[in-house]
Amino acid sequence: MQEREKELIEKLAEERLLTEEEFEQLIVLSDEEARELIASLATKQRQAVFQDAIYTRGLIEISSICKNNCYYCGIRRDNCLAERYRLTQEEIISCAGEGYELGFRTFVLQGGEDAFFTDDVLCDIVASLKELYPDCAVTLSMGERSRDSYKALFDAGADRYLLRHETADRKHYGSLHPAEMSFDNRMRCLRDLRDIGYQVGCGFMVGSPYQTPGTIAKDLRFIGDFRPEMCGIGPFIPHRNTPFKDESAGSLEMTLFLLSVIRLMLPDVLLPATTALGTVDHGGREKGILAGANVVMPNLSPVSVRKKYELYDNKICTGEESAQCRGCLEERVKAVGCRLVVDRGDSPRVRKTITEEKCNNGKI
Ligand code: SAH
Repeated sequence: MQEREKELIEKLAEERLLTEEEFEQLIVLSDEEARELIASLATKQRQAVFQDAIYTRGLIEISSICKNNCYYCGIRRDNCLAERYRLTQEEIISCAGEGYELGFRTFVLQGGEDAFFTDDVLCDIVASLKELYPDCAVTLSMGERSRDSYKALFDAGADRYLLRHETADRKHYGSLHPAEMSFDNRMRCLRDLRDIGYQVGCGFMVGSPYQTPGTIAKDLRFIGDFRPEMCGIGPFIPHRNTPFKDESAGSLEMTLFLLSVIRLMLPDVLLPATTALGTVDHGGREKGILAGANVVMPNLSPVSVRKKYELYDNKICTGEESAQCRGCLEERVKAVGCRLVVDRGDSPRVRKTITEEKCNNGKI
């Protein structure tokens, strides 16, 4: 490891932010030794905030129907070979019921931008989940919607919203998406979600086509400035029926390195070891935890549709990966010195606010 690299990592650990130029340098210089150093510092940070706890979320993929045409995504509109499905409200609730029994206390509803899920329909689903499982959090990941829509869903009980910004570089955004999609609208959504009061998650793919150390540096600055409660990053993996079918996948090593950078920037961030990470490497999610991640999101969708929500080739979704195999996951997490907990797993920042509010109310 070069002296400069060590200097930058130490500066990041102390000051929690670097300039865009410094981030770029850090990425260009990163080697194995640097990755080891940063992973150990990031693990220490994770332990300082969360001890040995790893949070789980049950991921319910509610629709593979999407009006968008993102160049990287397997369920893009123009992929006429994609098998489309949409879960009914009953199916979603029954998945959550199964998840509850398995120990999940957060349900993530994710899907393509499917016009069937109007505010009324989605609010109804959120409200019934909250009524049936009042001790659980509901996270939505349903793409770009209007501010009014986000507000209605929040009022119906949704706690968190995941919307990856995908890239913080406008030009790069334009090379990952068709012209009908807008960088400004994506950013508008994130600001609205934050204003409304959600715990918000942004994020990006590592190794997406046209990504450079410069664009990653912008992503990191954006994350450092926006300070999301959650941050989802995973390697880009090509899908055979997309314009990016011949592009290469993002690397395990760079993803791990960036997980550590993000943990050092935002010690209390909810940081998942993603399914994509587990897809590029069999032990990817455990390695993610050792790089600073503290969340895993096993698949809780009905087995009959799992293969159909195919964002990229060879997505792991059955066997040991699935929510049903919580026992396997527990063992894997134990093997890296952590513990899977039965907990909503809110952002510590929000937990603090809730407690303060309770105290103040008590005094009044
Ligand atoms: N429609 C929702 C959910 C999208 S799927 C939304 O717009 O937020 C969730 C995430 O999967 C995307 O944000 C994207 O970053 C990631 N993804 C999509 N295609 C991928 C691919 N080929 N490889 C890796 N990740 C991918």
